[in-house]
Amino acid sequence: MNSPLAGRPIAQVLAQSPLDALDTRVLLCHALGLTRVQLITRADHLLTDTEAARLEALLARRAAGEPVAYLTGEREFYGLPFHVTPAVLIPRPDTELLVELACERLPRGGSVLDMGTGSGAIAVAIAHARPDAQVSALDASAAALEVARGNAARNGVHVDFLQSDWYAALSRSPRRFDMIVSNPPYIVAGDRHLSQGDLRFEPVDALTDHADGLSALRAIVAGAPAFLGPGGWLLMEHGYDQAQSVRALLHGWDQVQSWRDLAGIERASGGVLPDR
Ligand code: GLN
Repeated sequence: MNSPLAGRPIAQVLAQSPLDALDTRVLLCHALGLTRVQLITRADHLLTDTEAARLEALLARRAAGEPVAYLTGEREFYGLPFHVTPAVLIPRPDTELLVELACERLPRGGSVLDMGTGSGAIAVAIAHARPDAQVSALDASAAALEVARGNAARNGVHVDFLQSDWYAALSRSPRRFDMIVSNPPYIVAGDRHLSQGDLRFEPVDALTDHADGLSALRAIVAGAPAFLGPGGWLLMEHGYDQAQSVRALLHGWDQVQSWRDLAGIERASGGVLPDR
């Protein structure tokens, strides 16, 4: 059976798509194997039966709510390409703040641990921006670690990966890092965002702690003194309304502060482990 899109020029498919124009362009590129420039220079190209069927399937899945990044398997983060699957959260631009904060504060040749690495976005971006750094990353999910390993290889960086439920596996071979970073699950159980948009398709355990939204952040702060060197930074991403609570968790740490993302929202907080 022929798709109604078969035999139509790219330009017409774009103009008549009921979906968001950018989504349509990205899915067209993916279905036809074209770059964004080729999509423009070949606007007269008539879709073949195969291309039309492929595009039709993608548009239908998008219309049903599936995130574009899962449909293409790709998302850019910190200027680098990342492979994503439904086993990992789709990297957010907000999280680039954490990478910047980490790169500015990591001492030369320093070691950094990314907790709950997911796609590996934070760890790989730090390793790429700071080739002098020794980057480690852990995640409880084996499927996520497989994606993260692929992303490290793809971007030509070395990251030591470890399967661990927060600090559990590290406790068997204690070592100290110069910095710990994390973008943990911090959405409150039952938050309406969990049942809206892209989040419906993302791994729920990467989004929410199924509690007050602070339990992962609490566990990370509580365990950090055993794995952080004196003077080491702990930097965490959190929700739009959690900055004050996270600063409170860091009571007794030095230089406790929060940083705003591009939207002006306090999106990350951290502190330095006191030297005593
Ligand atoms: N920032 C994400 C969101 O609100 C949540 C990511 C997380 O829980 N770490 O969509």
